[in-house]
Amino acid sequence: MNVLVTGGAGFIGSAVIRHLINDSTHNVLNLDCLTYAGNLASLVEVDRSERYNFSQIDICNKEAVKKVFSEFKPDIIMHLAAESHVDRSIDGPAAFIQTNIVGTYTLLEAAREYWKALEPAKQQLFRFHHISTDEVYGDLHGTDDLFTEETPYAPSSPYSASKASSDHLVRAWNRTFGLPVVVTNCSNNYGPYHFPEKLIPLVILNAIHGKPLPVYGEGNQIRDWLFVEDHARALVKVATEGKVGETYNIGGHNEKRNIEVVQAICGLLEELAPVKPEGVEHYANLITFVKDRPGHDLRYAIDASKIERELGWVPEESFETGLRKTVQWYLNNKGWWQAVLDGSYQLERLGQGE
Ligand code: NAD
Repeated sequence: MNVLVTGGAGFIGSAVIRHLINDSTHNVLNLDCLTYAGNLASLVEVDRSERYNFSQIDICNKEAVKKVFSEFKPDIIMHLAAESHVDRSIDGPAAFIQTNIVGTYTLLEAAREYWKALEPAKQQLFRFHHISTDEVYGDLHGTDDLFTEETPYAPSSPYSASKASSDHLVRAWNRTFGLPVVVTNCSNNYGPYHFPEKLIPLVILNAIHGKPLPVYGEGNQIRDWLFVEDHARALVKVATEGKVGETYNIGGHNEKRNIEVVQAICGLLEELAPVKPEGVEHYANLITFVKDRPGHDLRYAIDASKIERELGWVPEESFETGLRKTVQWYLNNKGWWQAVLDGSYQLERLGQGE
């Protein structure tokens, strides 16, 4: 099958593409405009595959998207392209409205035209898989409740509100126009190739450079963490075996307070990187509490029983094994994150790098 992945140069999209190329026989086209979050260095291990291609296109550009559809002829679209960082959505919401809402609308319209013109057998096979977040549900204040596929939407940030809007558009294109869609809502991901503005890579890299480890408020916010490769396996399963019109929640049953996550990283670094930066006696001494983010959600936790029951997906990594792999990956892959930190990954994409 031909699988079009939007946002394939990002954190989760690149994991999906590595999984599709390494563990399936599908052809993959990565459609990504390469914002600051897009990094082709995350795809070096599949770059030479004959089944992989890349097209630098903005999902808001309908004519370019239509041309890609008519040339590549996708059987499945896995839509991950998005602006994804909550703090950036507070500082500048416009890009989130543009890519997450207008971009998804543009892609849906191009997909609808393309799908309508397919022969009936191909129409039956076609899937538009929209990848979304559990943040659309708002937050939980009790300790036992979980987000299910029926939880009403109550997004808090410009990011989650823009993702909620895109989820509604995708479902409307199914209900009104019959476009065969599937939707997934997933909890917080972590793992290799994560852009160092996000909590886990930021803490790892700040710690090994002897810089403060910023923790919002008192670090009591609870997130349900999932290793990115487990998410990638779940997504490919839903895209190929999910039921049209259905939503699947994806999560790792790993609820942790932010402060616990930061302390766990410090503990792993004590073991895996015992030679510390000058003046640092214990990595945990670098923890610094900072003013909380406005509108910060307290707790997210996912009930993933539907995808486990109906599609037989379960996560393979526990938080302990996944976090250890992640910390070790950052220690072993200085070249990848150094180019991100010094900005040279953006020059390379323009052909100006060395
Ligand atoms: P990311 O920010 O790492 O990557 C986003 C990718 O989309 C980048 O490669 C970027 O260049 C590309 N992109 C952005 N705007 C584009 C546009 N207009 N046209 C084409 N490409 C564009 O994001 P991620 O963390 O990999 O998240 C991927 C998807 O998964 C998002 O839709 C996000 O909402 C969702 N999600 C993320 C998490 C998480 O923990 N990271 C959890 C659940 C769901």
